[in-house]
Amino acid sequence: MSTQIKSRFAPSPTGEIHLGNVRTALFNWLYAGSRQGVFVLRIEDTDLERSEKRHEQALIEDLHWLGVDWQEGPGCDGEHGPYHQSDRLAIYQQYYQQLQNQGLMYPCFCTPQQLSLSRKAQMASGRPPRYAGTCARLTQEEIEQKLAGGERPAWRFRVPAEGEVLFEDMVRGAQRFQCADIGDFIIKRSDGGPAFFFCNAVDDALMGITHVLRGEDHLSNTPRQMLILQALALPLPQYGHTAMIVDEKGAPLSKRSGSRSIRSLREAGYLSAAVVNYMARLGHQYSNDGFMDTDALQHEFSPASLGRAPARFDPAQLDYWQKQALEHTGIDELWHWCADYRDEQQRAVHERVPAGQRQDFLLAVRDNCLFPQQVSHWAQVVYDELPPYNDDANKVIAEAGGAFYQAAVELLSLQQDELTSDFRSFASAVGKETGNKGKQLFMPLRAAITGHSSGPEMARLWPLLGTDRIAARLRLACET
Ligand code: GLU
Repeated sequence: MSTQIKSRFAPSPTGEIHLGNVRTALFNWLYAGSRQGVFVLRIEDTDLERSEKRHEQALIEDLHWLGVDWQEGPGCDGEHGPYHQSDRLAIYQQYYQQLQNQGLMYPCFCTPQQLSLSRKAQMASGRPPRYAGTCARLTQEEIEQKLAGGERPAWRFRVPAEGEVLFEDMVRGAQRFQCADIGDFIIKRSDGGPAFFFCNAVDDALMGITHVLRGEDHLSNTPRQMLILQALALPLPQYGHTAMIVDEKGAPLSKRSGSRSIRSLREAGYLSAAVVNYMARLGHQYSNDGFMDTDALQHEFSPASLGRAPARFDPAQLDYWQKQALEHTGIDELWHWCADYRDEQQRAVHERVPAGQRQDFLLAVRDNCLFPQQVSHWAQVVYDELPPYNDDANKVIAEAGGAFYQAAVELLSLQQDELTSDFRSFASAVGKETGNKGKQLFMPLRAAITGHSSGPEMARLWPLLGTDRIAARLRLACET
């Protein structure tokens, strides 16, 4: 029987959620889902100055939009709550007490200046910087004296002087760290607040987390956290550290190169299915390279398929998945996606497209659109004043000449059902009349009727445009 998976996403709500965070959330969620496990959302808001409710709300909204749901967490209380670290301070206190009783935690009175001097000295002599242990051997008397003098210590975890920490990383394989290289580290800040190393590890254990997938920037934290859990005789999760996301040049993802917030992608008109399909593949190999719904993405997720090499973020790939997602989105959902988009004249797609034509209009234009603004543009082309011809269309119209359009206008004015209801019949009649064929026939008609030399299938646009509008546009081309 396979073990029950319990994974988690543990964001610090100190800013907008960006693609790197989202991928971490997604991997953990996919992993839990792949094994009918449980996914937990824990808000790590112990940095009171930088954590803000609005960031947490935005984060939750982003996760909902992506379809990432949790079985335990804010709004979904389970038996291991509370799920905000700021509500768990009393719990941490018990475990601090336990470490203190075991002599594994001691107060450190070193000032930031002293610590920085010591670091510089170590680096100057070629040693990796770590806490020098200045306060590790203070006597009880010395401690009391300092406390009585009003000094407020931070508290450090006493790392064993010898030995090593070994673990099997789900992504990177066997890992080995020497305790002697670690140095005693702070687990409780001088303001009394719990430090990340401590509450993050304790909560994983108390919440029954079995697997932690997180960025490789946390790799060196893991041995520290394992030491804490071992000291407290708490269960250890299995860790996996995923490679970072880099831009096309191999540099860490920056705002400019695409580390955009989920909100900005949503506002730009990306579908969540596109973002999810792309992010799930960014550093994870799926054997199926077609579009997958979330069930399939979950089903086929495996930590063994996570890569060790940095994953390259490629905006063109995101657009590729946007196209795939559009093809797999039902008409009602597509309508919902684009209906409220407003153009420069503040007109929304839903104000332009008549209710009875929504489906036909979307089916006509969807292959030519990646974003709602393009749908809006085609809605304008079909239902409004024709926008100015684009350069290519201008050229095509000039080359076709007035006589070509004159013939087209006359044919249309015959009002024969066969010609007015079907673009192909109409085009072939114009071809017969003018002698134009193929490109010479279809391009000039398209250019005059849509103002573009390429675009959605004319046969689909034709019934939406209606004879009056088409006639007016052909007449306009006669005069050009
Ligand atoms: N709050 C931490 C962060 O956002 C969590 C790290 C982890 O996943 O363990 O980086």
